[in-house]
Amino acid sequence: MLGWGHARFWLRRLPGVWRSLLFGVIMGLGAIASMLMAAEVLPGRFLDLRLSLVAVAAFFGGPVAALATTALTLGYRVSMGGVGMTTGVITILIVTASALAGRALVGRGRVFAWHGVVLGLAISLISAVGIYSIGSEGLLNTILPLGVLNTLATVLASLVFVQARRVSAERDLFAAALTQAPDFFYIKDRHSRFAAVNNAVAKMHGFATPHDMIGKTDFDIAPPERADVLFASEQKIIASGQPQLDIEELLPDATGELRSYMTAKVPLHGANGEMIGLAGVSRDITDDKQLRQDVIESRNLLSYALAEMSDGLAMFDWQGNIVLCNAQYSASFPYTSHARRQGVNLRDILAEVVRTREQLNIPVDHEQEWIDDIVTNLHRESEEEVHLFDDRWLQVRTRPTTAGKTLVVVTDVTRIKQAELALHSASDQLKHLARTDGLTGLLNRRAFDIAMDAEIARGARAGTPMSLLLIDVDRFKAYNDAYGHPSGDECLKLVASHLQKSLKRSADLAVRYGGEEFAAILPGTDEDGAYLVAETFRKSLADARVSHKGAERGILTASVGVATYMPDNLHRSAAELIQTADEALYSAKAAGRDRVYGTRVRAKQSKYAQE
Ligand code: GH3
Ligand code: MG
Ligand code: MG
Repeated sequence: MLGWGHARFWLRRLPGVWRSLLFGVIMGLGAIASMLMAAEVLPGRFLDLRLSLVAVAAFFGGPVAALATTALTLGYRVSMGGVGMTTGVITILIVTASALAGRALVGRGRVFAWHGVVLGLAISLISAVGIYSIGSEGLLNTILPLGVLNTLATVLASLVFVQARRVSAERDLFAAALTQAPDFFYIKDRHSRFAAVNNAVAKMHGFATPHDMIGKTDFDIAPPERADVLFASEQKIIASGQPQLDIEELLPDATGELRSYMTAKVPLHGANGEMIGLAGVSRDITDDKQLRQDVIESRNLLSYALAEMSDGLAMFDWQGNIVLCNAQYSASFPYTSHARRQGVNLRDILAEVVRTREQLNIPVDHEQEWIDDIVTNLHRESEEEVHLFDDRWLQVRTRPTTAGKTLVVVTDVTRIKQAELALHSASDQLKHLARTDGLTGLLNRRAFDIAMDAEIARGARAGTPMSLLLIDVDRFKAYNDAYGHPSGDECLKLVASHLQKSLKRSADLAVRYGGEEFAAILPGTDEDGAYLVAETFRKSLADARVSHKGAERGILTASVGVATYMPDNLHRSAAELIQTADEALYSAKAAGRDRVYGTRVRAKQSKYAQE
């Protein structure tokens, strides 16, 4: 059994069947040896321990081992002959069969040392029956010692077998762990000679198997200078008993590419505390280092970008806490910059905004709703312009990101906002200019055309009357000739102011129609009303008594033509109304000027009305 315990380590690479066969043969030889050393307890009565080995071979080794052992044992027993041969053969066969049955019962591979006890007792019983069958004299002297010895032998053999199997399994496991680990493992003796290395080490140094490196030193695998350094440092570890941890080195690999390794070497102590060598483990950290470098670089790049960008940027997590923000973000809000930093919740920041009145658009007495609204919408995409106490405008853009966070970008848009406001007023001014006459401030001809079309349509729709006054200053050419063109312009302004003054309703529109001609659109005004307005104007101008040598009465006057659409006249047109007013004006001029003439535009008669 001891021989087998050693042999099985050397034979571990053999296929299982061969190992079983060898086990069986060795057990068979053991059984024969036992028979050769048989003790004669009574004359002609020999005792030996063959059955123990037969049983152990069958129980632990299985059918193949059982076949070998039983065959050898039987062969030898038969060759011996003698009185108990038949009984001997039968007992051997019964023991073999019982051990195989026992093995089948407990299940292959699950055999334990205590099974040996049961096995030993079983053999004792079987051999007792065998002995009894041969003859009953001196039974106790034979059966008892044989039973005790058989049991003991079986138990011992079982122990050896189980132990040897356990040790070799452990050894296989450790060997596999060492040789197959991806890191570099090696054990050196106290003279820095490799005692064990794993596959990774052997491969790195160009050896076919780890075994080929055993006994080598660094002088066999590295340049002399490096080997010197390694040897010196390892001898220091062994001399001082102090490990060297986290040694980082840059070494070329088999292809010459430089790679980074992290190495730890620890001294190994023997059972009595003496130094017996050292163990080293190295790990290729090139990729780790590169990864770390990449992370650092991208972090630097990110913080650089954050610091250099002109916008303020803050990232909020799902709970509304600031995860990160740049200095511009805090600086954009002078009153609450102290609250705008990592870890602070949006709710607390907004409470500070309310307290300091940093923003101008917070609804008074509804501050809490205002805060709730912003917090609720933090994770929705939005864009908002915020007016600050110092008249700055900030554009706040909120963009949810994939990981449940939200990016807030704050841009100072004060200048854009101011430009926008200026543009609005400029465009309002332009609109005003486009419809206003520069000299008099009244509506110009363009505005007149638009207003006429609109009022004509509105009046026709509503069935309301509408009047138009066309006004022409009398003898104005002569005025220019007499007093000069600039005075003429002043005169036109005066006429415009009298006209404007004469219009009492807000819907009435005063227009400079062109040159020294004016107009007034009077929506909702009938013929009588229009006359009244025209007359008021005419009189007001005449009463001003601006001297005009070239005029009939020696003062500045104007003639007015009035045209009116009555409510029943629904077929209206601006051109018709203007032409009618113009004809009336002509009549007023012809009749001696400084007077009002009017015409009611007759409704076009329908066919039925004529009948
Ligand atoms: P009438 O009584 O028949 O209307 O005589 P009138 O001289 O007013 O008639 P006419 O239409 O021939 O003359 C109009 C004059 O008005 C011609 C022009 O010298 C003058 N005029 C037109 N526009 C302006 C203006 O913007 N400024 C000045 N100062 N004069 C203007
Ligand atoms: Mg004229
Ligand atoms: Mg005129």
